[in-house]
Amino acid sequence: MVKKDKSLRLSRSRWDSFIKCPKCFYLKEKHNINPPSQPGHPINSRVDALLKVEFDQLREKGKPHPIFKEYNVNFIPYNKLDPEVLARYRNNFKGVEAKSKKTKYILFGSLDDLWFNLDTDEIVVLDYKATSNKNLEDYTTSDKYYHKSYLRQLDFYAYLLKLNDYKVHKKGYWLICNAANENQKSFKNNVSFKTTLLEYELKTDYIEDSLQDLEKCLESKKIPISGDDCDNCRWFDERKKY
Ligand code: SF4
Repeated sequence: MVKKDKSLRLSRSRWDSFIKCPKCFYLKEKHNINPPSQPGHPINSRVDALLKVEFDQLREKGKPHPIFKEYNVNFIPYNKLDPEVLARYRNNFKGVEAKSKKTKYILFGSLDDLWFNLDTDEIVVLDYKATSNKNLEDYTTSDKYYHKSYLRQLDFYAYLLKLNDYKVHKKGYWLICNAANENQKSFKNNVSFKTTLLEYELKTDYIEDSLQDLEKCLESKKIPISGDDCDNCRWFDERKKY
């Protein structure tokens, strides 16, 4: 059992914000300067909640979801966990927890779900995504900063589970619900989604090194430089010239 010390708990999203931009991370963590707030995504949260119910119903029966057959994967929703443990893994403030190997941090991240690969007896890492895109991009080849964050999200979940001694399947998945059905011509209190399963080769070997960088960043008195994925500071610096 991992000992809980609030000050040492490091969430996946904090780790990800460090990778996105060490400068913004540092300003928030050390000086409590928050980046401009953004509205939440309540429709995405609603899709997530409904998917959880849908997969839980199949979990109880030990049955695969139709999308697994469509993509020819021999998966079922993982049903060897105590429901209380799954609820904890899904809780935003608890999640799956593990001690980092090279830093002082207790890592945690909350999952949407876990699946099970019946061919290999391995846990399958995944995340539900809701979107509306005419041309759905492949996150694994996209250069958009938020797609890169989706990749790291699965990597981090896989790493947490490995640290908890789960045998984790080498591929992670996104279950993408895309509200872009061109045949739907009017709203009528309904939005039609197409569901896609996208796979990704997980990588976890960089995570401890990045955690060490994060630890060093927080111990430093110097504000780090900005990350590459945000244009705001560049815009601000250019603006100052005038
Ligand atoms: S580049 Fe973006 S994320 Fe980084 S410090 Fe500037 S505003 Fe923040």
